[in-house]
Amino acid sequence: MNIIKCRLKGVVFLTFDIEPDAPPYQSDSTRGLEEGLPWILEMLNKRRVKATFFIVGELADRYPSIIEAIVGGGHEIGSHGYSHRRMDKLPPEEALREIRRSIDSLSVFQQVSSFRAPNLQPPKINVDDYLSLGIKVDSSVAFYKNRFYDTPIMKNGLLVLPATITSSTIRLPKKIAVRLTLNPKREFHVLFYHPWEFTRIRRKPIYRPDIWLRTGFYAQRSLESILDEAGKRGYKFLKVSEAVDRVVCK
Ligand SMILES: [Zn+2]
Repeated sequence: MNIIKCRLKGVVFLTFDIEPDAPPYQSDSTRGLEEGLPWILEMLNKRRVKATFFIVGELADRYPSIIEAIVGGGHEIGSHGYSHRRMDKLPPEEALREIRRSIDSLSVFQQVSSFRAPNLQPPKINVDDYLSLGIKVDSSVAFYKNRFYDTPIMKNGLLVLPATITSSTIRLPKKIAVRLTLNPKREFHVLFYHPWEFTRIRRKPIYRPDIWLRTGFYAQRSLESILDEAGKRGYKFLKVSEAVDRVVCK
């Protein structure tokens, strides 16, 4: 396997994982889609920022108008599996079926060339499998889980684009969220959030504080501050598939 560490400077990838609310805690709820996502799309539209939405295929089948709204806003859609099952525990053939099925659902709306595994737990499939599905960028790993991923990585034609910060950072007090998210020691930033974080999640019956804490209003203000600050610093916002043309690998 030919693994090359790459450079990518001055860019922010804003990504959202589109799935039921806070799985598995509220998996029967889709308030994120109904309330959080419209806020996200309107805010991005006002700012003319384009983002990437990694979407669970089953939701694309159930809510086609939502996917049309995302694509209509000029954003990219990528695969987040079909059913949000953890893929690291599935036999490789089963994981491949999940991804293929999600791409079948999503490609009705837009060609799909990027992927993120549910819970950032990559399936046990190989680079050729990704490429044969048309996937050119995989954003299923994270710098905060494994320090090896401090740069994007080219693996035999598949670009691995690591998430740089965990989503719940958005719900720390605003100034801290901005500082940690756009840490200037990193040359690039791959941010990921969930629509439910931008709706008010009540404390009961969910007791895990990282689920409900500072959701809704606070998370909305933090995200706006992060985008303001990224703009002030002259970062360019790119969609995930655009990384392929921008990355320098030698
Ligand atoms: Zn997810």
